[in-house]
Amino acid sequence: MKDLRKGILKKARRIVVKVGSAVVAAPPVDGLDIFGRLASEINALKETGREVAVVSSGAIALGVRKLGLKERPVAIPERQAVAAVGQGSLMAAYDSAFSNAGGHVAQVLLTHDDLGSRKRFLNARNTLTTLLKFGIVPVINENDTVAVEEIKFGDNDALSALATNLIEADLLIILSDIDGLFDKDPKVHSDAKKLKLVEDVDSAGLERLTGATNSLGTGGIRSKCEAARKAAHFGAATIIANGNMPGVLTAIFNGEDAGTLFLPKEDRLTSRKHWIAFSARPSGRVFVDDGAREALLSKGRSLLPSGIKDVDGAFDAGEVIHCVDSSGMEFARGLSNYSSFEIQKIKGMKTAELVKVLGYKVYDEVIHRDNLVVL
Ligand code: GLU
Repeated sequence: MKDLRKGILKKARRIVVKVGSAVVAAPPVDGLDIFGRLASEINALKETGREVAVVSSGAIALGVRKLGLKERPVAIPERQAVAAVGQGSLMAAYDSAFSNAGGHVAQVLLTHDDLGSRKRFLNARNTLTTLLKFGIVPVINENDTVAVEEIKFGDNDALSALATNLIEADLLIILSDIDGLFDKDPKVHSDAKKLKLVEDVDSAGLERLTGATNSLGTGGIRSKCEAARKAAHFGAATIIANGNMPGVLTAIFNGEDAGTLFLPKEDRLTSRKHWIAFSARPSGRVFVDDGAREALLSKGRSLLPSGIKDVDGAFDAGEVIHCVDSSGMEFARGLSNYSSFEIQKIKGMKTAELVKVLGYKVYDEVIHRDNLVVL
């Protein structure tokens, strides 16, 4: 186990460190706040040739403090307004801490919708990888003015998994106010034991193990494990650890057993397939017959028009769509070569008939297997 952990940490060259609201809002330890601690620990990592991007929550928490509110607002528009106040303070804190340590940060505000567009995803990737090349630490937050997903549910956990694919990181470190994943809810059971390792995130029984939430952030352990699952499918390891423990990043890279380590999946998805599975927003669905479903699931085939029974939604060629069985249950998703309008005409047909019906043929397949992800 120790060697396994050491191997993963040694190999990790590009890292996403996600900092939760409960860490940002925690009081300083030994006179050093989280920003100062991150600046010196991340700088030390950079000196070993590693590249680090931060995904940070805390805009609402700092906005609450700045405006002297008693608590985090409940109404979403109020949270958004408070986040707009706090985002400046958040960046100012990162900026001054990293400047003092001789480095630079850059503010990057993103939404899941931005990353759902392949073009914007690639634009964001270009900016982020250029920042990393310059040795600058991007500090990513959700653009709370235009999106409410993370302030409703996730405390940026989901965003951190998308960022892992976005910059093609090999390690995601989620810093929260909990020590890791436990076998029981540690807030309820005093004998709960921390799990050091989750070998297979898909078969670890996470639904049973997750339940506890912290109070300041929206994301509990469940959304952190979900982020670890997405990262694992991209071939990245995840460590969920306690960000309120001084020196936690250094401890992790010294090979100490801090937090819970989730191993990456061996059959990782390519960045493009990961984008199809987790970043893209499907805009329609095709109903697939049992034979074609079987061919996609167990034979790794492409989806042909002959296997499609019906189509639902309005989409253009090049958009991501759900593949569902006759009961409407999704089993795959992929990039469609044809629009919903065209599929309506060619569903159920043999490839040879396409030209007759459409007057042209772009591709034999509606979804090529290279653009298809089985879920
Ligand atoms: N983007 C929000 C923030 O920075 C996210 C998280 C939350 O506190 O729920 O505060």
